[in-house]
Amino acid sequence: MKTAASESLGRPVLVQKYGGSSVATAEHIKNVARRVVARHREGKAVVVVVSAMGKTTDSLINLSREITFHPERREMDMLLHAGEIISTALVAMAVAAEGVPSVSFTGQQAGMLTDASHTQARILAVDGARVTEELRSGKVVVIAGFQGVTEQLEVTTLGRGGSDTSAVAIAVGIGAGECEILTDVDGDYTADPRVVEKPLKMPWCSYDEMLELAILGAKVLHSRSVEIARRFDVPILVATSFRDAPGTVICSPERARKEFGAMEEVSVRGIAHQKNVTKVSLVGVPDQPGTAAKIFAGIGKHEVNINLIVQAEHHGGKNDISFLVESSAFLRVSRFLDELVALVGGERAVVDENVATVSLVGEGVQREPGIAARMFTALAREGINIDLISTSNLMITCVIPKDRAEDAVRALHRELFEKGVVQEPRLD
Ligand code: ADP
Ligand code: ASP
Ligand code: MG
Repeated sequence: MKTAASESLGRPVLVQKYGGSSVATAEHIKNVARRVVARHREGKAVVVVVSAMGKTTDSLINLSREITFHPERREMDMLLHAGEIISTALVAMAVAAEGVPSVSFTGQQAGMLTDASHTQARILAVDGARVTEELRSGKVVVIAGFQGVTEQLEVTTLGRGGSDTSAVAIAVGIGAGECEILTDVDGDYTADPRVVEKPLKMPWCSYDEMLELAILGAKVLHSRSVEIARRFDVPILVATSFRDAPGTVICSPERARKEFGAMEEVSVRGIAHQKNVTKVSLVGVPDQPGTAAKIFAGIGKHEVNINLIVQAEHHGGKNDISFLVESSAFLRVSRFLDELVALVGGERAVVDENVATVSLVGEGVQREPGIAARMFTALAREGINIDLISTSNLMITCVIPKDRAEDAVRALHRELFEKGVVQEPRLD
């Protein structure tokens, strides 16, 4: 794609992001360097965004827990951003060892400005000037993903999995025409390949559907990366760094129509599941205007994200309001639950950690009434009890017991993809 940046550099600009499994060892890093150098030698200006090596971020979190369960979020950012910096320097060294000049940058050096919300900072702007200058001098630029810096030069991180978001933001910031997310799977599949034996690879997926899949647990892309890609219409290629194989393109339906001959939407694009959730029910809260507002304003003050909200009607002027929070945020919620119950005059709070969500995502899940019935029937056949149901025009989510999550994904995959779902009509 021709962009202002490619015109000014006289070369197409490519951003490639390599995830933790792609830089897990020195051998992996050398493989990344060879791939990067090959693209550079094809005549591209290459920017590489990297994650921390392997499970480094998990290890750093565990290390902090040996010290305290309540660290300052600022200090967590100081700790965690170091993981990405290690990979950045090593990848830059490996590229240079292949004979191509290279320079590594922290998020700050790459011009990544964020707000001050430590451990889940949002990107305010990317100043691509320094990166572009280094590309102009013929270097490969290697940038630490997952991190940025505030106006006050405080280090921040973007939330788990946030390197994808760094990569797309940098692609927008420097005006790159291509953005590739390289990982350990060769694209987006109809379900997590670690759970389903023979998932189908999607040749493409719309921004809207991918955003929904990512929010609902398909780990392959950080949801905010898809939001940015959609806002600036930057197509993302998801592919593997382990071999050469075609991946999945995340793009607008218009582009898919042109490039893939996609005429109509499929009914169900994929299945996502999420096990790291906890259900909180506020039981017996008064059925009157303002109750839900008070509850969620109270939670919002503590910067906790809510995944799903369901209100069940009681008789006698009382309701139950249930919501899901990420299990990692539950500790924070638990500290003000009693206060919340008292605030709205409810009876009690009930917490259930044995829950998971399983979701169908696709443009047709609402349009075709048969889809919901097939979902519920497939779960019933497995003896899986549905606790809560939530729908939108793009998804149906069921809350189910955590220990049945994988069974549910497999049953739904059999029902919707192995027995035959409405296939995508093609022009050819
Ligand atoms: P990286 O470290 O490269 O960022 P992640 O672990 O974040 O990689 O994401 C890749 C993983 O996402 C895969 O190993 C796969 O198990 C998981 N995944 C979950 N759902 C899907 C899906 N629908 N398609 C492909 N991969 C998926
Ligand atoms: N290293 C960070 C994490 O593990 C960011 C990322 O990999 O995208 O969450
Ligand atoms: Mg990831």
